Amino acid sequence: MYLAAMMLAVAGYVPVTLGPWAEMSWSIVNTLGPVAVIVFAVARLPRSDRTAWHLLALGILANGAAVVPNTIVSEVLQSDAYPTVADAFYLLFYPAVLGSIGLMIRRWPPRLIRPAMLDAATITSGIGVLAWVYAIDPALQDGSYSLFGQLVRVAYPVGDLLLIFMALILVRSNSGAGTRRARWGTAPPWLATGLLCFLGGDLIWLLIGAHSVPGWVTRGVDVFYFAAFVILGYAARHATATDVQRLAAAPRPPGIPLMSMLLLALLMAPAVLLLQTSHDGFQHGAAIAAGSTIMSVLVVTRLTVLLRFVERQSDQVRELARRDELTGLPNRRAWGDELPRVLEHARQSGRPVSICMLDLDHFKAFNDTRGHQAGDRLLKEAAAAWTGQLRQSDLLARYGGEEFIILLPSTDIHAAGAVIERLRPVTPAAQTFSCGVAVWNTTETSDELIARADAALYEAKHAGRNRTVAASAQQPPAPLPASTDDAVLRG
Ligand code: GH3
Ligand code: MG
Ligand code: MG
Repeated sequence: MYLAAMMLAVAGYVPVTLGPWAEMSWSIVNTLGPVAVIVFAVARLPRSDRTAWHLLALGILANGAAVVPNTIVSEVLQSDAYPTVADAFYLLFYPAVLGSIGLMIRRWPPRLIRPAMLDAATITSGIGVLAWVYAIDPALQDGSYSLFGQLVRVAYPVGDLLLIFMALILVRSNSGAGTRRARWGTAPPWLATGLLCFLGGDLIWLLIGAHSVPGWVTRGVDVFYFAAFVILGYAARHATATDVQRLAAAPRPPGIPLMSMLLLALLMAPAVLLLQTSHDGFQHGAAIAAGSTIMSVLVVTRLTVLLRFVERQSDQVRELARRDELTGLPNRRAWGDELPRVLEHARQSGRPVSICMLDLDHFKAFNDTRGHQAGDRLLKEAAAAWTGQLRQSDLLARYGGEEFIILLPSTDIHAAGAVIERLRPVTPAAQTFSCGVAVWNTTETSDELIARADAALYEAKHAGRNRTVAASAQQPPAPLPASTDDAVLRG
């Protein structure tokens, strides 16, 4: 209803000529509507979240109400001086919006805000080169204004660039899954749309420049501003309270649209250079060089941030791939990677290496009587208890299900047996296990060593469980026993 009513009010403003005072009043209505909606909509938010929106409302109010001093200056004082007090009102929009959005994004996690700011800064710099060449520098070169007048004229495009910067950050807020919703509902895209609408109005003003245009055109441009206010007001409808808990969203890597925008921004400088050298003569070398330099630094910084992100992620993935989730122990893969290294070391030092294969006894029955969760808990607690009994150089891993494997460097068969006996009393819930121990014979491969330990474990199970069996020096017959008997006994 708000949108429909406001859009109607805004659209109705264009075709009818009512005279300056009526148009002023109409503008005030178009401004007050969105301001009221924002104040009303954010009243339900916590105090700390409201300030940002109030600042936005203040910016809209100032910008919309500037029509009052503007009309007074032109109609009552009959003056066409520049700048006037109205410009202060118009310009207040920029710091208010910057402050407002700054407050909104201040609690974003750095890993999300840093890339968003770098992207936004790069694209803004590209547009900045255009702005400098076609808006800011011409205003500065225009001798018909006082220095103060020039500064005020320049403040508009500079403010617009900052708005572009903020709008781009808001657009990028989409890239962290869950974050946008967590922070302020679906407000950011609406905020960005509102700002872009405002910028559309400014761009048309820039293009109109000093040309005189009929009244309905200027009112038509005003529609961009009013529509921007309406959309910003609508954004407030979508604001939700802060939920810092859910801010853990991971940033998504940049996609094709963002990359295209970055490329377009980078091409701005050479494009302007080309235009300048082919048409107006070469004028803005310093600005183009400065723009290119800034963008180069930003892009390389962005690359660095991105590479770090990728590196961190691959570290995480590697770590995940090597760790057992339940017990936190290294998994079979990590253990298997370590074994050849330790064997090579033993070959050089001449010291013995033992490996022990453990399998919990009747663990299926434990699960069946006490439940799977209790089984999980036992696996976790056993892993922790056993780790406490081992040296730093020993490597305990979860080999699979309820099977574990221990690598004991510089340990002979007797010492290994003693280690295993230490583990039995600390195993939780009086759970027993069977164990096969094998000492490396200095010639066999890792797989052969593991196969001997496995065969010894099988023997320990067969001999009645809850015991340790030393592997025979002989290789078990290959392939390993995989009879139905074995399947029943060992799973
Ligand atoms: P045995 O003494 O012959 O080793 O008997 P067992 O019951 O331990 O052997 P079996 O291989 O038949 O069963 C292993 C059981 O271990 C099956 C499954 O219920 C349990 N198990 C395997 N992995 C997990 C796990 O991650 N969590 C829990 N709770 N149980 C597991
Ligand atoms: Mg078992
Ligand atoms: Mg088993």
